[in-house]
Amino acid sequence: MTITGTYIKYYKVCHRKTWLFHHKIEMEHTSELVAEGSFIGEKSYPQRAERYREILLDGSRIDFYDPYDKVVHEIKKSDKLEHSHVAQVQFYLYLLRKNGIEGATGLIEYPKLRQTQTVRLEEEDVSLVEAWVQDIERIVNSEQCPERITKSKCRSCSYFDFCYAAEEVL
Ligand code: SF4
Repeated sequence: MTITGTYIKYYKVCHRKTWLFHHKIEMEHTSELVAEGSFIGEKSYPQRAERYREILLDGSRIDFYDPYDKVVHEIKKSDKLEHSHVAQVQFYLYLLRKNGIEGATGLIEYPKLRQTQTVRLEEEDVSLVEAWVQDIERIVNSEQCPERITKSKCRSCSYFDFCYAAEEVL
């Protein structure tokens, strides 16, 4: 199986979400990926296409890579900085390193917040990323869907209706 940046991002939020995503249970109308994609496409920096490249590494796509400065750019519509975004970009840096591109960095842009977050992959982070990948494989290969996390953290999740529908019927 191919672990992509989306797996890493979801894994850092909720193991159940990772499992649902892997098993192709999609909540189309609220899909965060669709929303994020259209946000990026419609509102953000059309000029970036000239400098940045979309690259595919080990089956994982990096949308905006600047090969001149070796910077992975990631745009998030979120109104708060999240550690899952950092993990996603660290995974991209890991893939670059694995494919012979050393010393790349990441830059997460939060247009809503007018903030940026620099991301690096230190030597000690490499084994961490490898441990995430192994754990994701364990989770998604299990027949058991993981338990829900704390409800207060679920409000903005696209699987909210799926996870809590039964509760509302009762
Ligand atoms: S609604 Fe909550 S428990 Fe369900 S997948 Fe999303 S974050 Fe996980």
